[in-house]
Amino acid sequence: MSQKKQEKLIDENDVRSDGRNLNDMRPVKLEVGILGNADGSAYIEQGKNKILAAVYGPREIHPKHQALPDRAALRCRYHMAPFSVQERKSPAPSRREHELSKVIREALEPSIFTEYYPRTAIDLFIEVLQADGGTRCAGLNAASLALADAGIPMRDLVSACAAGKVEGRLVLDLNDSEDKGGEADMPVAYMPTTNSVTLLQMDGILTAEEFEQVLNMGIEGCKQINQLQREALRSKYTLAKEGETEKEEESEKEDKE
Ligand code: ADP
Repeated sequence: MSQKKQEKLIDENDVRSDGRNLNDMRPVKLEVGILGNADGSAYIEQGKNKILAAVYGPREIHPKHQALPDRAALRCRYHMAPFSVQERKSPAPSRREHELSKVIREALEPSIFTEYYPRTAIDLFIEVLQADGGTRCAGLNAASLALADAGIPMRDLVSACAAGKVEGRLVLDLNDSEDKGGEADMPVAYMPTTNSVTLLQMDGILTAEEFEQVLNMGIEGCKQINQLQREALRSKYTLAKEGETEKEEESEKEDKE
């Protein structure tokens, strides 16, 4: 936030440095079920962010003392690869990564029927391969899809998007330079079916009125993401179904021959 601005981040026509309008999200690409060895997985590109999420479980919990008598324990690790940022990052987990692991877990937990699997673990790994601002939100989007891909019963997909204030204007989905050079950044995670916010953080300063506007912008961003997540799930399962039908047709043909 305190970093001195070199160039203008938004021009006089309200066009941002990456060509977006104030209310535009970065281009989002989502893929579900891309890791063969995990129970569920997903990949997201949001602008220059590239993030993988993998899920194992529900499975036997180790160490045993972490078992919860009434529900599954959701365990989450958000991690940035050493090559994910310009200056090599230490692979050891930082305080920031511990914090993000915690807030992501808390944002996802309300979406999962953890009570169906007492005394088990659901392990979630988020690996940031390339970071450009908003990785907690993008990581959450991939993580929620990976949980769904693992077949874990859920109330809804959790969708996340940040909004904030840059050079006096309210903007959606800040990139790294906007996050660092702007006045405020507010990551929001949201479940549309229950209309509930499961993560709300803020870095910077906003007036009460701006706070409400930025929160609403963030929620609208989450709703857009939710549509894309649903499409990504649908396309994976449509492809899988098509594959099954083809196989069935082939074996029917073989039987006849
Ligand atoms: P988020 O990625 O959710 O916005 P932050 O606001 O903490 O989380 O970080 C903003 C951005 O700062 C990250 O997305 C990343 O591009 C950059 N960043 C974070 N940690 C480091 C680091 N150790 N070295 C260089 N850049 C970093």
